[in-house]
Formats: sequence, structure tokens, C-alpha cells
Amino acid sequence: NKFNELIKNTKLLRAIEDIGYDKPTEIQERAIPFVLEGRDLIAKSNTGTGKTASFGLPLLEKICEGEINQVLIVCPTRELVMQVEDEIRKYTKYTEFIKITSVFGGTPIDRQIRAIKKGVKIIVGTPGRILDHVKRKTIKLKDYDCVVLDEADEMLNMGFRDDIELILSKIEKEHQTILFSATMPKPIRDIAKTYLKNQVEIEV
Ligand code: AMP
Repeated sequence: NKFNELIKNTKLLRAIEDIGYDKPTEIQERAIPFVLEGRDLIAKSNTGTGKTASFGLPLLEKICEGEINQVLIVCPTRELVMQVEDEIRKYTKYTEFIKITSVFGGTPIDRQIRAIKKGVKIIVGTPGRILDHVKRKTIKLKDYDCVVLDEADEMLNMGFRDDIELILSKIEKEHQTILFSATMPKPIRDIAKTYLKNQVEIEV
């Protein structure tokens, strides 16, 4: 199983083996080493390529190593949020101390607040609801070590540009930013230029 050339944590490798992945996909082979290095990253990649694991697995590894503490994953829709949450939760089968939760609109915020207060390491959410939590101070953006923008072009199409920029601008401490997008229109490039540093770019 070639995953062990990319991922070292045996608990994560066991989870991958249980799920039944034979070998890393192209995006996983190319992205995982950079994510582990802590590099900012732009990846032009579609859904279905294995992109969730390409950031999820290395970020879990870094949490296990104590290199990072909290990760925020921003997605355009509730459906994608739930999909990403489910996917990443599968990888934590043997590392259940890494708590993950999701936040999105249309459901009561109180339950989300209780979940966050249990000490989650990974939050997956839609931009509007993430900012709701930021206003209530239940999500403190300054505490995050890594932010992932998933399907960034979709988020812009849905009118989330200001929300995304607000989120990115409020993460104060030294952090890693990872941006996934199926297309790379100018607004995405502009966001990358403003908020990413010395980023690696990959296209699959
Ligand atoms: P994604 O692009 O993250 O939405 O993933 C698409 C699908 O591919 C999901 O059902 C994943 O569980 C699956 N997948 C991810 N990585 C692999 C892999 N290395 N081998 C086989 N399937 C995978």
C-alpha cells in the first residue's frame, strides 16, 4: 500500500486500509507532501479525484503530531460540508480523540455551539454560518492553524466572496491556507495573491 510513502501515522494508515483504498490518487500523491510541509497550496482539481483525503489525511497527521491544533474547512454548501465531514471522520477511526464537527445554516445553532465547546479540532462549515459563530465568539478564528477553502470557485459563484475574505483576514496567527477550485478565474487568483504566501500550485 503506497500510502505509507506519504503518511507515517500507523493509525491513519490502518483506517485507510480498512476503508479499502489501494493506492493514493494523483492529487493525493502530489498534494500530501506539501500539506505536510505546511506550505500554502492552490489545487485545481475536481470533486471525485480524492481531494478530501489529499488535505484531510496530512492535516490529521499534523494534528496527531501536535504540529497543528485546529483546522477550519470552508465549503459552499451544506451537502458538501456533510460529505467532507463524513469522509474525514472515516479517517479518524483509530484517532477518535480528534473531534470534528460541522456548522451550516438551517439547523439550530445551539447544538453546534455545544459540539464546538467539546473541543473540536476540525470544523467544516459554510461561510455564512462560520461567520455567525465568529460573531458569537464560539469560533475564534485567531486560534486556527490551517484553513481549507474547498470548491472556492463555487463559493464565489454563490456570492460568498466577502465572507471568505472576512474569514481569511481574521486568521491572525501564522497559518497554512489551502485552496481547492475546479476553475481558476481572476477573483480566485486575486484572493490567492492577497491571502496566500509562497504557495505551491498543482493541477490534476
Ligand atoms: P473526493 O474527490 O474527495 O470527493 O473523493 C471522491 C471519492 O473517492 C470518495 O468516495 C472517496 O472516498 C474516494 N477516494 C478517495 N481517495 C481514494 C483512493 N486513494 N482510492 C480509492 N478511492 C478513493
